[in-house]
Amino acid sequence: MSEIEPPRKRTCERCGRQEVWDGDRDVWRALETDGDRRLGQAHCLHEWDINGTYSPIAEG
Ligand SMILES: [Zn+2]
Repeated sequence: MSEIEPPRKRTCERCGRQEVWDGDRDVWRALETDGDRRLGQAHCLHEWDINGTYSPIAEG
């Protein structure tokens, strides 16, 4: 089995924003930890710790 597991979580290396993949809505959303949302900085050009080759858009 060589099925590629898509990333479920990503972290901005610049501001520390953390997002998790919401498979129901097909969107990234901010991770909440103990009610505290890891939003990072609003004006940050987020540099995610996952590489850019993965596309979450699946053909339908
Ligand atoms: Zn950022």
